[in-house]
Amino acid sequence: MRIGAHVDPTDPLAEATARTADTVQFFLSDPQGWKAPQPRADAEQLRTAEVDVYVHAPYVVNVATGNNRIRIPSRKLLLAHAQAATAIGAKGLVVHGGHVNAGDDPASGIENWRKALAYAADSGGFGLPVLIENTAGGENACARRLDALARLWDVIGAYDVGFCLDTCHAHAGGEELLGLVDRVKAITGRVDLVHANNSKDAFDSGRDRHDNLRGGTIEPDLLVAVVRAADAPVIVETPGGADGQSGDIAFLRGQLGSETSAA
Ligand SMILES: [Zn+2]
Repeated sequence: MRIGAHVDPTDPLAEATARTADTVQFFLSDPQGWKAPQPRADAEQLRTAEVDVYVHAPYVVNVATGNNRIRIPSRKLLLAHAQAATAIGAKGLVVHGGHVNAGDDPASGIENWRKALAYAADSGGFGLPVLIENTAGGENACARRLDALARLWDVIGAYDVGFCLDTCHAHAGGEELLGLVDRVKAITGRVDLVHANNSKDAFDSGRDRHDNLRGGTIEPDLLVAVVRAADAPVIVETPGGADGQSGDIAFLRGQLGSETSAA
């Protein structure tokens, strides 16, 4: 199982080495901004590296919203990121499930997702799997709770999309981690990537504040159980820089290794 971390984008391979990470995730542009990603000077190194690369789309991307001043640029930015991520050999592009505004019909958000995927397909395709990530907050989110995810997947499952399961978001979003992977796979048929994070906040708080795996409000054994059940690459998006994340990676490797040898 490949385990790594979300890192600073300046020199991701050096960050991977500093954490003994098998995989890294990073942003290609300001996560709070609308700037298109620029070509990277280290594209060839990233493409040929032993380390697997994932890209996280900016947080501003919301292809579900009824606000067309956000939805239309979101479509374009998502496609631009997919193409830029493909150029560096990324295995997947992670994007949040998005949400509609209060009072808007959640079904319109699903239809907007379908249109975004149809637009990408008509524009040459993403070039790599786009991994839709569950989110922690909001009452109108497309991928906070599994009932909403099921309605979304009914419509978009036919496109080349995958799923990224974030343990902090699930817990804070109000989904029990026990048995979660089976419930997700019953909907999506797949978990492509796990974001293994503890949560500073309580179950169903709707808040999105990550903590180190042995900190926070989630029993660490539950995080290990999710990672084991998912059997997918893992990224920790936890605090503490290289030291904090190295500790989280070592914890997961230790738990998974000891369970394997004990089994
Ligand atoms: Zn995440």
